[in-house]
Amino acid sequence: MAVWKCAECGNVVEARCKPGKCKTCGAPKDKLAKEAAAEPSGKTAKAARTGRK
Ligand SMILES: [Zn+2]
Repeated sequence: MAVWKCAECGNVVEARCKPGKCKTCGAPKDKLAKEAAAEPSGKTAKAARTGRK
């Protein structure tokens, strides 16, 4: 899950794909910047590796 932050109003949106526009202020998608994901993806990859021999 990626996190997108609006440069216009500072609203943060969680979405797998980049939103078409900010739902709060209606800014176009080029105003939305990708932020670091809330949960680390490395943990899932490590678990999958451990379970497989
Ligand atoms: Zn906004």
